[in-house]
Amino acid sequence: MSEKYDVLVVGGGNAALCAAISAREAGARVMVLERSPENERGGNTRHTRNIRCTHAAADQFFSGPYSEQEHLQDLIGVTGGPANLDLAKLAVRESSQLPAWMSGHGVHWQQPLAGTLHLGRTNRWFLGGGKAMLNTYYREAARMEIDVRYNARVEELIIENSRFDAVRLAHANGGAGEIVRAGAVVVAAGGYEANIEWLKRHWGDAADNFIIRGSAYNDGQLLAALMKCGAKSMGDPKGFHAIAVDARAPKFDGGIVTRLDVVPFGIVVNRDARRFYDEGQDIWPKRYAIWGTLIAGQPGQIAYGIVDAKAIDRFLPPMFKPYKADTLEALAPQLGLDSRTFVETVTEYNRAAAANTEIHMERLDGVGTQGLTPPKSNWALPIDRAPFYGLPLRPGITFTYMGVAVDECARVLDQSGRPFQNVHAAGEIMSGNILTKGYLGGFGLTIGSVFGRIAGREAASNARA
Ligand SMILES: Cc1cc2nc3c(=O)[nH]c(=O)nc-3n(C[C@H](O)[C@H](O)[C@H](O)COP(=O)(O)OP(=O)(O)OC[C@H]3O[C@@H](n4cnc5c(N)ncnc54)[C@H](O)[C@@H]3O)c2cc1C
Repeated sequence: MSEKYDVLVVGGGNAALCAAISAREAGARVMVLERSPENERGGNTRHTRNIRCTHAAADQFFSGPYSEQEHLQDLIGVTGGPANLDLAKLAVRESSQLPAWMSGHGVHWQQPLAGTLHLGRTNRWFLGGGKAMLNTYYREAARMEIDVRYNARVEELIIENSRFDAVRLAHANGGAGEIVRAGAVVVAAGGYEANIEWLKRHWGDAADNFIIRGSAYNDGQLLAALMKCGAKSMGDPKGFHAIAVDARAPKFDGGIVTRLDVVPFGIVVNRDARRFYDEGQDIWPKRYAIWGTLIAGQPGQIAYGIVDAKAIDRFLPPMFKPYKADTLEALAPQLGLDSRTFVETVTEYNRAAAANTEIHMERLDGVGTQGLTPPKSNWALPIDRAPFYGLPLRPGITFTYMGVAVDECARVLDQSGRPFQNVHAAGEIMSGNILTKGYLGGFGLTIGSVFGRIAGREAASNARA
């Protein structure tokens, strides 16, 4: 049996490290249990770049103020109303403290990156991205004498009479795993987006065609363990944040660079070479996150973004070269599409956009198609200047929404809504309390940082209770 800690933190990403540092600040002896090897530590947080925070005024890194009220309205706007409004308000309010706290622990900032989704006023960008931020937190953890164990996959939570006692680690060779005891636990082990079998329960075989943008380690084992111990779940089990990524991206962990921003600049066709949705429905930062789910609903879960020479340089260059041809007829077979139908689809679209000569991407310009179903409502230029380009798109799953219910102390709630005394959750594993559908860029880290800090602090105090 191992040494007794006050607080065990399960996971090694943003929420876990915020919890570990906060618990240590509150005087607890802390151990972080990260399932991955050291060189892959940090889960999906490694891929992040910015965090959304309430702030009263512009500064060196925010281009303008962002009030609590506006922040909350934005959140309500995209989610259609958080599952737990009080927790949403708490996250929005407490986010104002994050820049100072993060800076205090060594995080450095930078100006927003060019070509990103216009978040310079609302979001703060950390220098070097999530990887650098995590390295900073791990260095800080070492300085604060927080123990970190890698290759430490927690497979069971031992909770008796609503009280956490210990975790059981998976044994490398499948034998009985080591038991690690502590006074309290913070579970910050991410969502279940990398668990294809779990996704299949809700999406069927379509899930085989999903690309997982983040860590392969986020398989929801701890979410399942908490639910087995009687935790109440929150959020739609089928719900996820998914965007259009390059179909040639790696199955896991491709990160941010596989995202394709081609959609509003041209048209999108499915495997049958038919359009299926309005590519110009709303400004891209608001709409980009519906395209993963839209493509997930198409045959074979594949689609193709089609642009011409006028548009190819107007969005962030793709990681893999686009397919290219001098004629539409020659492009179709490269994409595996039926030439006749493909040319028919583009011709029909071009006819409906024939009157349009100029577009303004920075706003909803109303330059739409006439008499076309589905319409393209904005930025509809004909696709008529060779060469023509095609980019294959698949659903890229960022994270799942369902998690465990928590209270304002980040304590996990049981089926009857009562908190477990010393079991806390933070980050993606409880984001379903706030994100029911839709997503506000940078809010994943806001949730993880706010509730990670609360969970760490509360766990430190409950461990001694
Ligand atoms: C490509 C990409 C870009 C993103 N960009 C942003 C952004 O710029 N801003 C933003 O706010 N959000 C962004 N997000 C979302 C963001 O990554 C998450 O909201 C956030 O990182 C979640 O943090 P977390 O600590 O809850 O989970 P994670 O960072 O995923 O950490 C989960 C941890 O749990 C560990 N773990 C899993 N199972 C076990 C187990 N059984 N035992 C022990 N450990 C286990 C994993 O190894 C991992 O270390 C992005 C996501 C992706 C995929």
